[in-house]
Amino acid sequence: MTKLGIGGRLRRVMTMLAECLFLCGILFLCCYETGRTAYTTKLYTQTEFAASIDETTVPAWYKLNIEKYFYDEDGKSILNPYQVEPDRPMIALTFDDGPGKYTGELLDILEKYDARATFFMVGKNIKYYPKAIKRMKDMGCEYGNHTMSHKDLTKLKKKGIVSQLAKADKELVKVSGESMYLVRPPYGAVGEKVRRNADGPLIMWSMDTLDWKRKNAKKISKYVLKHVEDGEIILLHDIHKETVDAVRIMLPKLIKKGYQIVTVSEMARARGVVLKDGQKYFSFYP
Ligand code: ZN
Repeated sequence: MTKLGIGGRLRRVMTMLAECLFLCGILFLCCYETGRTAYTTKLYTQTEFAASIDETTVPAWYKLNIEKYFYDEDGKSILNPYQVEPDRPMIALTFDDGPGKYTGELLDILEKYDARATFFMVGKNIKYYPKAIKRMKDMGCEYGNHTMSHKDLTKLKKKGIVSQLAKADKELVKVSGESMYLVRPPYGAVGEKVRRNADGPLIMWSMDTLDWKRKNAKKISKYVLKHVEDGEIILLHDIHKETVDAVRIMLPKLIKKGYQIVTVSEMARARGVVLKDGQKYFSFYP
């Protein structure tokens, strides 16, 4: 064995250290890449992904990815936990007049396909379906106000309009702790007085499926699939069994056509629309 001088030993130690650092580097890169992939690809369902997101623990590199963010009014970024892709087609399914006895079944279908919807609920129904309402939130669905007792708001005075919306909101707060932001006026009836006194954006629709009249799952789904366009807000009612069955038929087909099934607010944000109180919105076409 040849004896090494101090210089030789130092060189050997330095070489070992360099090799060690190099291997650590490779190991770090592998872990980083695996972690990043797990975070951004399909290892999570959308629901699990949303549940896993916590603004305070989102890794810095994730925050750098601007496409994962939307912007609010003040230009502040809002996390886009469901990774809605603004350039891909999307629609918002909206369900009025519930919740009802078929709402749970509808949620099962939505969950199966990682889809989300907006529920414009009638206040007086809310207390009967607390489970379904909590589930909506867990699944990333959106709550909307359809008044306390399905009143035509254009026929009410200011006090009546405010009270119809506030009472419904109170019911939801009792069950879920959440307030409703979006408003869908019953019968789509809106006048100047409603606009001035509604404490939220008025969400109308671009496609009326007439599900309550058709009362036939095949006919309803056929109509939607034939007429659907990117950015559409679709009017449905989860109090009818036929509507829920129609969703079961149409949902996989819509997804196959490339549509993202998102909430009204998600679609507005994705299309760069800042929702304003008292203003009517019919669609968010690209
Ligand atoms: Zn209604």
